[in-house]
Amino acid sequence: MARIIEKDDRRPGVAAAGVRPHMPAAGVRPHMPAAGVRPHMPAAGEQRRHVHVGAPRQRHHLGRPRRAQRREGLAVHRADEGRERPRQVQSQARGGGADRARVRGDRHLHPRPESERVLQRVEALEHGQGGVAAPGPEALGVSCLCGSHRIGAARLRAAWHSLAVMASMNRAALRERVEALPGLRVLLPVLAGLPPAYLVGGAVRDLLRGADSLDLDLAVEGDGAAAAREIAARLGGDHVEHGRFGTATVRSEALALDVAGTRRESYSEPGALPDVEPAGIGEDLARRDFSVNAMAIGLSGDALGELHDPFSGAADLEAGVIRVLHQASFRDDATRILRALRYEARLAFRMEPGTEEAARAAAGEGLLDTVAGTRVRDELLDLLGEADAPTAVARMGELGIDRALHPALEAAPDLVASVALGCMETGADRALAGLAALAATSRAEGLSPWLDRAGFKAGERDAVLRAARRAAVVVREIPGAEQPSQLHALLAPEPPETLALALGMGAQAEPVLHFVRDLSGIALEIDGSDLLAEGVPEGPAVGRGLAAALTAKLDGHARSRDEEMRVALEAAR
Ligand code: ATP
Repeated sequence: MARIIEKDDRRPGVAAAGVRPHMPAAGVRPHMPAAGVRPHMPAAGEQRRHVHVGAPRQRHHLGRPRRAQRREGLAVHRADEGRERPRQVQSQARGGGADRARVRGDRHLHPRPESERVLQRVEALEHGQGGVAAPGPEALGVSCLCGSHRIGAARLRAAWHSLAVMASMNRAALRERVEALPGLRVLLPVLAGLPPAYLVGGAVRDLLRGADSLDLDLAVEGDGAAAAREIAARLGGDHVEHGRFGTATVRSEALALDVAGTRRESYSEPGALPDVEPAGIGEDLARRDFSVNAMAIGLSGDALGELHDPFSGAADLEAGVIRVLHQASFRDDATRILRALRYEARLAFRMEPGTEEAARAAAGEGLLDTVAGTRVRDELLDLLGEADAPTAVARMGELGIDRALHPALEAAPDLVASVALGCMETGADRALAGLAALAATSRAEGLSPWLDRAGFKAGERDAVLRAARRAAVVVREIPGAEQPSQLHALLAPEPPETLALALGMGAQAEPVLHFVRDLSGIALEIDGSDLLAEGVPEGPAVGRGLAAALTAKLDGHARSRDEEMRVALEAAR
């Protein structure tokens, strides 16, 4: 059974940003690691700890992230649905059967290396809080193995007790924050009588970080599609269902939200699609990627504002840490490596050492090749589309993710940064131009099969390959393109990504901008049929005539339709 963290026994976490003075220290936390007995990923300098806790297996998370859907103008729906099949298998193959794919109540508390800070925090709490009954650590199955920093059960109980008090204060604050979100005053009454509903995932993360508007992701304990239908009907809006995962998008005048049924997922055999079963919110959170994304806030009735944070994501939010939920997480779904880099860059966070080591190892073992190519593409493009993509790219290089993706890719953060500027000038797609930048130093042709396997559309693939191949040529040849027509001949066949990459590589900016601004939109008033009507025979002569007319027009020698025609006919005959 899922262990749903109830009001009094959950470990309190961060409340709404700015509402509460401080977070519980990141060091002391209930930890729910991988299914089965796995060694905990030791943080640097941290002694190895026992892990006895079964956690749900992580499902492969195969959806198209919303940003990417938007980029392609697709319907917006939940990221964790509509999936393709990754080749990597998870739980059974490693002995973590479905029976273990449950969050169990017994948990061990694993103080982190920051335990000095924890002890200070505990002391502060012991002296500053008290008075409300809260379960002691034993009742929660919590034990403490801290090496040199052994925290006694009594102290821990006191700390827990105090934290529970803080949590109840936070709940009121969280409730306020939730109610203040755009559309929520309309939504909350509509949820009355429906199964328990929660705000989940990135929405909770961003709310706790202080965002005052966000993409609403709801998880409903029960039939997600039925709940979405009902919510849409009550709001007088529409809903669109997204297949077998019981997920749907609801839109009304007042708001738009994604709704999913809470679920666990298990894998019957290597390469199989995950079997999805309804489950409680605890298991739904346990199938997620990182602790900071594995939180929920109750939206229904008295539970409004209640934070579910079984993996201490709030503490990690405060500590600025990206932490997987169990050691096999990247093995289960290697796209999480790219997600981790993206969140690191976006949030200015850092993977905790064990997570980073696991990411490095997973990439080194080639696990990125086990994931469906389209999922890698989606995550890679999302990463490269981030505002702080250069930071993510630098980390790609540090961890060897670039070469692990494809040997022709080489992390080039500075180039990615300057290419981003070039994109603003040229209208190039930042993600595609960024990818071309990673391929610019090698023989980009080798990338072609990989791009195809990853499901890049032909236009995207060609833009990346051409930019990677041609940008250096453009840089070299621009100084010789003195006439507008020469500049046009050089740059017009290129996608904007070539221009952006060329600018990033140091191409003279003025000619490129002159082309983008003044020349790229110039077109002839005449066309081939006009030349045929004048008796030019079908065939190369038509092209020759039109090319001459365009050259004349670009260089200012053909300022009217008649002049274009004159030049074209001269050249064609
Ligand atoms: P963003 O602001 O980048 O969209 P998000 O957290 O909303 O952040 P999504 O990609 O939309 O990210 O995913 C929604 C949620 O689904 C995540 O917060 C996470 O809980 C879960 N999720 C997404 N991808 C995975 C994955 N590969 N493995 C596990 N959980 C995932």
